[in-house]
Amino acid sequence: MSMVAPEQIDYRQYLRLDMMPHILCPGCGHGIVLKAILRAIHRLGLRQDEVVFVSGIGCSSRIVGYVDFCTLHTTHGRPLTFATGLKLARPELTVIVITGDGDGLAIGGNHLIHAARRNVDLTCLLLNNAVYGMTGGQGAPTTPEGMRSSITPGGAIEPAFDACRLALGAGASFVARGLTAQPLQLDDLIVQAMQHRGFSFLEVASDCPEFFGRYNDLGRGPEMLQAQRSHVQWLGAKLTDKSFVPGLGLDVPHGGAAPAFDAGVLHREERPDLGALLARRAAASPPRARRPEIVPPAAGTAGATAGNGSSFAGPVRIRLAGAGGQGIVLAGLLLAEAAVAAGRNATHAQAYGPESRGGASKAEVIISDGEIEFPCADRVDALVALTRVACDRYLSLLEPGGTLVVDGDEVPLAEGMDFACHALPITATAQRVLGTAMGANLVALGAIVALTGAVPLEAAERAIAVRRPGGSIERALRAFRAGSGLALRHR
Ligand code: SF4
Repeated sequence: MSMVAPEQIDYRQYLRLDMMPHILCPGCGHGIVLKAILRAIHRLGLRQDEVVFVSGIGCSSRIVGYVDFCTLHTTHGRPLTFATGLKLARPELTVIVITGDGDGLAIGGNHLIHAARRNVDLTCLLLNNAVYGMTGGQGAPTTPEGMRSSITPGGAIEPAFDACRLALGAGASFVARGLTAQPLQLDDLIVQAMQHRGFSFLEVASDCPEFFGRYNDLGRGPEMLQAQRSHVQWLGAKLTDKSFVPGLGLDVPHGGAAPAFDAGVLHREERPDLGALLARRAAASPPRARRPEIVPPAAGTAGATAGNGSSFAGPVRIRLAGAGGQGIVLAGLLLAEAAVAAGRNATHAQAYGPESRGGASKAEVIISDGEIEFPCADRVDALVALTRVACDRYLSLLEPGGTLVVDGDEVPLAEGMDFACHALPITATAQRVLGTAMGANLVALGAIVALTGAVPLEAAERAIAVRRPGGSIERALRAFRAGSGLALRHR
């Protein structure tokens, strides 16, 4: 990113003026952060359509409602998940996540550590005011010991998170802490965080006079900012007076102890971010087939039924079901991966019982040349059932005229059903070609691929070769080809 010469900034050019006046309380530190972010973006010379703000829920997340950029105001604790998907899909965008100490460390704490571990190329600003503001001043994971909140009237007894040490321990490649009391230094930190390639974590000590200040007799905004200045030590500069540390310092008013904190850049390292690693892997993978032209399906069918899938359009919804341990989920995954390798769109959903062996197991795969709007289906076009229980449970979901494949030795089929029924010796075939029932999933996969044409046979074989189910490509392909052969003879 290049820098533009600092100049007088007209904040209004970056704000949604129709959203004003804002709802932040007088003296709230979050407004200071908002202006610091806008100054940082202005200094970096970024256009508004190049920057996306993503937030969760809370007072800090309201910032995203006021900025005139691309914005996503998401669910509580989840901004990093939305931002991760966005950044991977649109790596050219600058993605800034705004979260709070409750949103980012409690409800979304798990997402924070994994975004840091993965080194997703995001700039994450965690505005820490040591309290849940929007919901009424409840204690947060960063409420220091001894400090009061609406749920800790006698003072918090739990130790508080050190957000920066948490991010550092989880693998963030840039970690810094800034203050609302030092807004110009905050600008610099935001600029550095945005320039860093990888997961940049910037904790901003903000102030909530409405709740944290009031519950702890810390005064209003100006007094709370003064308190911040008094107990912070910028890295390299020792604090001389650590005794006046209301809210966060050594000598807290209601007992307990919390260390004075460091501000500035605490950690910086260069390592490949997740997008770069994925791009590297993709470059080393065989090229994905060109997406075929969408051909409208013939009347009364969801797609083609030819074994090579050449005129497929979809969507085709396929459910595979059986018992835990039969490899149902893996078969579904291979089917979806084959579809993607063939240039189609696919989703894969799975469900199985708590037992590793013997419980119910199912996988649902939707394949289409067009967009797939939802990854689950109420009705299916094809059902593969390896057990009687699975067949009984899911048969009612099968569309009239749909394809039914069952293990003929396990599932008795009634006469006169309104489906294309294929009772095949699936498990027995696995036993015959592999010497074990393990592999029935691949036999079933071969059968359903051959019968529906939802993916070309060669794409399925390629998917098998990549994943190596059972550890042997040769054995896996033998089972798959036995299944497709069975089906083609049975058609
Ligand atoms: S409740 Fe606290 S954090 Fe929320 S807007 Fe008011 S002062 Fe700011």
